[in-house]
Amino acid sequence: MPPGSSKVTFESLGLVHSCFTEKFAIPRQPSLAPAARGWIELYPPYDQPQAVEGLQGVSHLWLLFVFHAASSGPEHLRVRPPRLGGNQRIGVFASRSTHRPNPIGQSVVKLDAIEAGRLLISGIDLLDGTPILDIKPYVPYADSLPSAHNALAEAAPVLLPVSWTDSALQQAQAQALRLQQPVVALIEQCLAQDPKPAYQQPEPEREYGVRFWDINVRWHYPDPARICVLSVLPV
Ligand code: SAM
Repeated sequence: MPPGSSKVTFESLGLVHSCFTEKFAIPRQPSLAPAARGWIELYPPYDQPQAVEGLQGVSHLWLLFVFHAASSGPEHLRVRPPRLGGNQRIGVFASRSTHRPNPIGQSVVKLDAIEAGRLLISGIDLLDGTPILDIKPYVPYADSLPSAHNALAEAAPVLLPVSWTDSALQQAQAQALRLQQPVVALIEQCLAQDPKPAYQQPEPEREYGVRFWDINVRWHYPDPARICVLSVLPV
């Protein structure tokens, strides 16, 4: 690439298969839902064992990826992060918004297993189908900065209590067995972060829904500070 060239082109080297098949209710950062699982399908030639040699001793990965389902471009100078209630605008470079000049995301995820041509990961905040640009090992001594601060996002989001109807819990347990996935924990961890827009005042009779894996989850707010799961049924 000539020095000073502004055009950069990359090929993706893999694809994320994720429990999150729609954007709604995906945690806003990785690690917030440890039960959120998926895998990276590595494309040839990166599906060869040589490409992942040495990863056996690594617990977490940095993923660089493309926000393929978000609008991007130079018009995104200021954004309205959901964390600030969705009304306040800040500079795009002060935010982790998906709407950015270049639609590049970065997440630290747990590496659960290495299989032929794929990496099993958890604690993800990635939509199904996300293209992967690069994978790097997390390096604790350099990447963990206990003295770092961010006035806009000083602490993890406040969690709402999540309860279940008896039938919804039984349904979730049945789906967990069928999918061999921690469905109950996934639902609790994702809904506790209150996926609905911050400006909405939920009425108890209003139902919300989302799809995780191939199951539809429905819930309501008995009061604005509590969530109750109503049903967990296959799509
Ligand atoms: N950890 C990443 C970062 O800091 O770059 C992502 C942060 S972004 C605020 C997280 C949100 O991105 C999720 O809640 C989800 O709605 C959205 N998202 C995840 N994968 C996406 C994709 N491939 N395309 C568009 N949006 C995506």
